[in-house]
Amino acid sequence: MKKNDSLLIQTCCAPCLIYINKYFKTRDISYDSLYYNPNIHPYKEYVHRFTTLESFCKEENVKLHHLESFRQSDWEKQLDNCDFCYKLRIETTAKFAKENNYTHFTTTLLISPYQQHEKIIKIANEMADKYNVKFLYIDFRPFYREGQNMARDHGMYRQKYCGCINSYNSSKFKDKITFENK
Ligand code: SF4
Repeated sequence: MKKNDSLLIQTCCAPCLIYINKYFKTRDISYDSLYYNPNIHPYKEYVHRFTTLESFCKEENVKLHHLESFRQSDWEKQLDNCDFCYKLRIETTAKFAKENNYTHFTTTLLISPYQQHEKIIKIANEMADKYNVKFLYIDFRPFYREGQNMARDHGMYRQKYCGCINSYNSSKFKDKITFENK
């Protein structure tokens, strides 16, 4: 990143952002965040993830864009398809970055050891070419645990499943997940 560059981070949730925020802030790189999470199930969870991120961004003085989209019914045929999910999120981010004059984009998906890292890189590079905006690749996976500990210490809400209805249904913590008080 050069002095006049600008960065947009597609942000699935605040716990995945917290370490990445530290990474950029300690390097004096500012960024904006984009919340675009159209398949989070149920809607209460979608809102709770957003409000958690919103509070964190306020604390950290990070500009947060919210592309409001909750289209559960459109997703019912795609629920098992992480490729589709990655592509929709990353393509939307690259397009938004281009339309809003960011020079670079990246994604918090890169911090999760549970995501398909190589696929994310491939899709992000394709979308960077398609929309003529740069993809900033950093392998954040070694810092996943540190980030989760930071989120816990911060008292931040940490969800127990990836997000879509399929990941909710297959979560080994399903019995412990509750949407009350959200
Ligand atoms: S498991 Fe996660 S990455 Fe895969 S489709 Fe569901 S929300 Fe998307």
